[in-house]
Amino acid sequence: MNISCDMAMDLIALYCDGVASEDSRKAVREHLAGCPVCAGAYAAYKRSREQKKRPAPKTPEEKYAALARTMRHKQRASNLGVAAIVAASILLGAYSTYRMIVTDSEK
Ligand SMILES: [Zn+2]
Repeated sequence: MNISCDMAMDLIALYCDGVASEDSRKAVREHLAGCPVCAGAYAAYKRSREQKKRPAPKTPEEKYAALARTMRHKQRASNLGVAAIVAASILLGAYSTYRMIVTDSEK
């Protein structure tokens, strides 16, 4: 059975998710083999699906890499916090010095 491009596009999502019936899978496979347009759409759909579901880390190396990514994010956030505190301290120090100079000169 040969299906139209419209029907193939409808079935591609089900095919990718592995919920299409055997007949539908066969029809999609046959159509993709002979239709570069739908084959391209299928490849793009599959890529976007794979990017969305980043698999949970399995090996110790993957777990370490995921942990290191999380740590780098947290470290960056905490660096920003420290920078904000330092900047605030400098501003407060400058303001205090300014106030001291102004009040001294008013005497
Ligand atoms: Zn097609």
